[in-house]
Order: sequence, then structure tokens, then C-alpha cells
Amino acid sequence: MDAEQVELARMIRDADRIVLFTGAGISTESGIPDFRSPGGVWTKQRPIDFSDFMRSDAARRESWRRRFEMEETWRMATPNRGHRAVAELIRSGKASCVITQNIDGLHQDSGIPDSKVIELHGNTTYAHCLDCGTRYEIEALRVDFEQDGIVPHCACGGWVKTATISFGQSMPVEAMRLAERETLMADLFISLGSSLVVYPAAGFPELAKRNGARLAIVNLQPTGLDEIADLVLNQPIGETMGAAVGVD
Ligand code: ZN
Repeated sequence: MDAEQVELARMIRDADRIVLFTGAGISTESGIPDFRSPGGVWTKQRPIDFSDFMRSDAARRESWRRRFEMEETWRMATPNRGHRAVAELIRSGKASCVITQNIDGLHQDSGIPDSKVIELHGNTTYAHCLDCGTRYEIEALRVDFEQDGIVPHCACGGWVKTATISFGQSMPVEAMRLAERETLMADLFISLGSSLVVYPAAGFPELAKRNGARLAIVNLQPTGLDEIADLVLNQPIGETMGAAVGVD
């Protein structure tokens, strides 16, 4: 371990209740592209706004076309060493939960129970009806779409959408409430792979710090909150967290 990793390991050892916070950077190490990054999908193709999805059949069709186009990427991705380190901190009781901006479900795939994964932007690995909430599996929807051109919709008449929070869609109330509660109980807040510039998500590390917790940031690039952090590591997440937590 280098000196910074040793310091991170020491902060983890000294903490009683850690909250982990993850962004795109932890999942790029599993081959999932960072949509917001320079050259990322969203710089070439404007994201579809929630109001457009609700209003326009063409927007719904395009939204689903893009989702199915990405299916191979989502389906093939598996948790990496960074996810395993997060899972170990939660399994051992050191950390209470992980708050994530990611929609890939890789924290659950790494063995963390749903109840300890707080998804601020939802989850793209399944879909649900926006009216009645019925859950739908992506694969069945894809077959209908590709074979018969059917845009996913529910028996109740509602539109079916991936369980993600789109631009223009309100933040999930329960997830936001839980994330705030956990943040206020933490004595160490570790942000992994988030540029910490997207609000309200980036408000949680700030809240933790104001509330007296220590703040550690691991991200390849500088972030919006480096100035208030106790420790900043511009290193890969898997390698850094793996070493600090002691998992392969
Ligand atoms: Zn429905």
C-alpha cells in the first residue's frame, strides 16, 4: 500500500459507522461507460427528458431503442474489486449502507441486500409501470420490441419505463430521505468515483462533513468537493479500496 492508501485504511479502521457513496467511476472499472464524461454518450446524444417520454410516442420508442441497444453492456457487467470492497465493509458491519448514483445494480450483484443499497437515480436492470408500479423484466420487453415493434406498455394502460430517474423526473422521495438519515449518522463518508458536481446527490458528502463526519474521496479526476475533504486519492477505485479494505 502507498501512504495515501494506508491513511484511508486507518480512517476506515477508526470509524464506527461508514457511509459509502458511489458514482460512475466505480462501474467504469466493470466496463460500463460514464454517460456524463467528456466523449460519453450524453455528449453525443441528448438524454430524453421525462416530460418528452410522457408526451411523445416517438420519444418513448427512441428511449427504449437506446436501452435495448445497451442491453449487452448492462447484462454482461459484473462487480469489480471496488464493489467487493464496498460489500465487505457492509457485510462486516463497518458501513451501514451504500448510496449510489449508479443504475446498474452491481452493488446488489456483489451481495449487498437491497435494503442497504440506496439508489438515487433508480435502476435500469428492470422496468416498471409508471401508473400502477407493476414490475417488468427487460428481456421480455426486448423480444416484443424487436420482433413486433411494440413499445412497452402496461395492461393498466400506463407507460412502462426502466426503473431509472430520468432528467426532468423528480428525485425518489424515500431514497432521498433514507440517504439523508444515513448520512447524518455516519462518522466517515467515503465517496468513490463521483465527480460530486451533480446535485442533489453531491449534497450528501457536504452534509456529512458539516455534521462532523470525516470525508474521503477516491476519484481519478479532481472533484467538486476536494477542498472540504480530509483525504483525496486520485487513484483507481478497485485497487485503492481493495488494498485499504483487504479484499481481492
Ligand atoms: Zn400499470
